[in-house]
Amino acid sequence: MDVLEKARILGDAGRYDSCGPRACEVNVRSGLGGIYYAKAEHRTCRIYKTIMDNNCSFDCKYCPNARGGTKTKASYQPEELAKLFDYLHKHLSVEGLFLSSSVAGDPDKATERMIAAVQLLRGKYQFSGYVHFKVLPGTSYELIKQASELATRMSINIEAPNKAVLAELASCKDYKIDILRRQAWISRLNLAGGQTTQLIVNDLATDKDILNMMDWEYQHMNLRRIYFSAFKPVKGTPLEHEAPGSVLRQNRLYNVDFLLRVYGYHLEEFELAMEDGMLPGRDPKLALAQATFDAPVDINEAPYDELIRIPGIGPRTARKIVEREAKITTFEQLQKLGGWVKRAKPFIEIGGKRQTMLSQF
Ligand code: SF4
Repeated sequence: MDVLEKARILGDAGRYDSCGPRACEVNVRSGLGGIYYAKAEHRTCRIYKTIMDNNCSFDCKYCPNARGGTKTKASYQPEELAKLFDYLHKHLSVEGLFLSSSVAGDPDKATERMIAAVQLLRGKYQFSGYVHFKVLPGTSYELIKQASELATRMSINIEAPNKAVLAELASCKDYKIDILRRQAWISRLNLAGGQTTQLIVNDLATDKDILNMMDWEYQHMNLRRIYFSAFKPVKGTPLEHEAPGSVLRQNRLYNVDFLLRVYGYHLEEFELAMEDGMLPGRDPKLALAQATFDAPVDINEAPYDELIRIPGIGPRTARKIVEREAKITTFEQLQKLGGWVKRAKPFIEIGGKRQTMLSQF
């Protein structure tokens, strides 16, 4: 098999790993799969996302590369991958590499081949840009440390919010030992780009399960981001006939993630808007405001923490409101400060004016 055929197969297989909540595929005339626009180092750039090998010895039920699958087997030699990436970097403006692999043989053997490819890139091909290195479950500490010296960012997929859900999906991975212990090691290695993780959103877990795990991960694993993937049944896998996961649900989880990280919400707040452990099917900030506000908020008296909980008012607008010396007397003034007035109106009072009757809350 020639390198271009390998690139087509292995680049296409790379799409099952998320490199951003809204990464999108680049349509390149070469027909190569695996080139994406993604956020890396605080800007959008072209990333080549690929796996090293697609012949896994593990049995994850959702994965097209799992053992016994019917796909065409392909595997890069380290030099082939490094040379191909060098070409993409120089001729197709690809600025970063996102490298993963199936567990071909055992995790250490597969990781050694990934490391060899990145060593060639950093040494022989003098590439100093972004490398995201996917850690395979069960990899030894020595190899993770070695990879961390070459990578910008690392990640290991937790896939599920707890041991029981993972056990439904895969028999070869021990949640605590093969995944969480490796995450803890990565968090101590202090990579410039930190670490991220990915989790499949399916019917085996509630939103509450997922959000609890997400909160724990941010607190204990020094995580930069968590990526959610609505479950997609893949042909040729044991789950091919299952219903796909909800993309709307995936996006609601991203909304809550943003509210926790950027707005400073607390996880317990969302429990007030949940039913049977699930978030409502609408914007979580709006749902939470509807569930918790018992009267319109006086925009000139409210502290910052209360202002950012009003739908239509974000952190920048809230900051401008509290720093302003003159009182806001009209909805137009609020709009000029960046507020989304139509959204905020039912929840606020300005100069004694309100749109909503108290009984409507
Ligand atoms: S370990 Fe990774 S590549 Fe292997 S079957 Fe599981 S998800 Fe697929």
